[in-house]
Amino acid sequence: MNDFLSKSPKYSIPDLSSDNAKCCGCFACYSICPKKAISMKIDGEGFYYPVIDEEVCVKCNKCINTCNFKKEHIPHSEDTLVYAVKHKEKNILVNSSSGAAFTGLSDIILEQGGAIACSMFDYKVKIPKFVIASEKKQRDLARGSIYVQSYIGDIFLDAYGWIINNPDKDLLFIGTGCQTAGFREFIENIDKNYLNKVYFVDIICHGAPSPQFWTQYCTYLERRYKGEITYVTFKDKRNGWNRPTAAVKIGQNKEIMLKDYIKIYYEHCVLRPACYHCPYTNLERNTDITIGDYWGIEKVNPEFHSEKGCSLILIHTLRGKELFEKTKKVFDVWDSDIKSCLQPNLCHPTECPQNRKVFWDDYECKGLEYVLDKYGKDKFIVRVKRKIKRLFSD
Ligand SMILES: Cc1cc2nc3c(=O)[nH]c(=O)nc-3n(C[C@H](O)[C@H](O)[C@H](O)COP(=O)(O)OP(=O)(O)OC[C@H]3O[C@@H](n4cnc5c(N)ncnc54)[C@H](O)[C@@H]3O)c2cc1C
Repeated sequence: MNDFLSKSPKYSIPDLSSDNAKCCGCFACYSICPKKAISMKIDGEGFYYPVIDEEVCVKCNKCINTCNFKKEHIPHSEDTLVYAVKHKEKNILVNSSSGAAFTGLSDIILEQGGAIACSMFDYKVKIPKFVIASEKKQRDLARGSIYVQSYIGDIFLDAYGWIINNPDKDLLFIGTGCQTAGFREFIENIDKNYLNKVYFVDIICHGAPSPQFWTQYCTYLERRYKGEITYVTFKDKRNGWNRPTAAVKIGQNKEIMLKDYIKIYYEHCVLRPACYHCPYTNLERNTDITIGDYWGIEKVNPEFHSEKGCSLILIHTLRGKELFEKTKKVFDVWDSDIKSCLQPNLCHPTECPQNRKVFWDDYECKGLEYVLDKYGKDKFIVRVKRKIKRLFSD
């Protein structure tokens, strides 16, 4: 039998990640494997990829069948509804990345005894990790976008266990497009009867940076500023939601701006290779709801625009519509349309920069501080222009 399996092309060891561009690192293959033959290993750029133990693999192909990146992307057929929303409670709005769509949507699930599987920053290890939150206080810790690929670990299995143990309750899973699609594939493949116990919500995503690059950056900051990072924000609204401030707090009151990291993020070299081929950079997702920033609201509805933030909500399914209807009262809502809400990552993936390889070669050979200096600073002429502009505006 074993001999037959290894000779038949259909039953060869599945090819999960020989091409990095085709693996989003969602951990679905690792989670579904009935033999625990798959482990997730970090590559040279600091991203997780699956590695199969050929001795343990029974070639059942469950991993391949669960891989959302290897499937043709089949969008749902229902029409997408588009809303701009702002949470009515100012305190919640200010402390959320956009218009607090996440808090509004998750509140109702928690109030009904359900739970939220979401990413939140873990200050011990300095990376965002998925957890299951069943109380509002814990859920609140997930507020704030963290521009680092979050760690999935065993969350798919934990969430599945939660669903089995709570048959009368709902779970809301929220992550980037690939993470939510990964969880959906996992549930569909492990037991599709549970699909209707989950609300699948994804966030619009510009791309996910290397967790290892970020943790090395944190270590560098802690060493340089002699203290521990106690707070991280990428979207502080002190200068308005349209001009987010990214900063860390070292110890109790030293604040360090993350200008170099943010510049490197927006130059796109540190993104996961699969991000440049992301199939979730469109309006037609296989989720119930997509949330993001409603960029451009000041142009399409200036009266609705707020410096405190505004969320875009795209509703793809009847189930998503029902959830939104239940939560609507906590928001100021504007009925929008597809044409008005478009932004780059709803139209196409972020482009791979030409100097990506040079960046990673520099990082490997010359280290973090070298790349922060080379790629994280504005060119001299840009700095001079900014200074002149400031002089004239003062
Ligand atoms: C890496 C990244 C890139 C993004 N790019 C865009 C973009 O191009 N355009 C756009 O409109 N919106 C983008 N967003 C989404 C946006 O920043 C807000 O997260 C979203 O609008 C929700 O805002 P809120 O006020 O409802 O949520 P908040 O209350 O601030 O909650 C944030 C939500 O995002 C989740 N989250 C935070 N960090 C991560 C992470 N690293 N991985 C997975 N989930 C995370 C939290 O668990 C929580 O559910 C991005 C988010 C991330 C994390």
